[in-house]
Amino acid sequence: MSTIEKLRPHHIVCMHGFIGEGYDHIFTENMGNTIKNILSNNLLEVVFHWDNICSKCPNLNNKGFCKSEKKVRSLDQKTIELLELKEQIYNYNELKETLKRELTLEKLEYICSECSWYQEGICKKTIFTNLL
Ligand code: SF4
Repeated sequence: MSTIEKLRPHHIVCMHGFIGEGYDHIFTENMGNTIKNILSNNLLEVVFHWDNICSKCPNLNNKGFCKSEKKVRSLDQKTIELLELKEQIYNYNELKETLKRELTLEKLEYICSECSWYQEGICKKTIFTNLL
């Protein structure tokens, strides 16, 4: 049986805006593979700390904290509120439907405005296209 990928809350939003860019090649390849596995298993496990994407990120320290821990915790908390998330395994398609229903441009701005990728305009258009 294949592994169920662990995702921290705000990465549920990020995975829909991913266009193959990231901090470095290792990070980008791992994020792409994580997304592929979630789509093929139709399952993911929500965790309220570092996740499979963080595990290959140069910003994660050896204690399991992000270089921008305060900021990413805030992104996570806003996503938890939007999707009423718990730490558990989810059916990906059901979670996607909830995201599609709940996410508006205003809510995306509220969740992601502190993120540099969002500020650079990398993901906004892709997120809504992927949620069509
Ligand atoms: S920047 Fe932080 S939250 Fe984002 S993937 Fe890297 S370690 Fe995780």
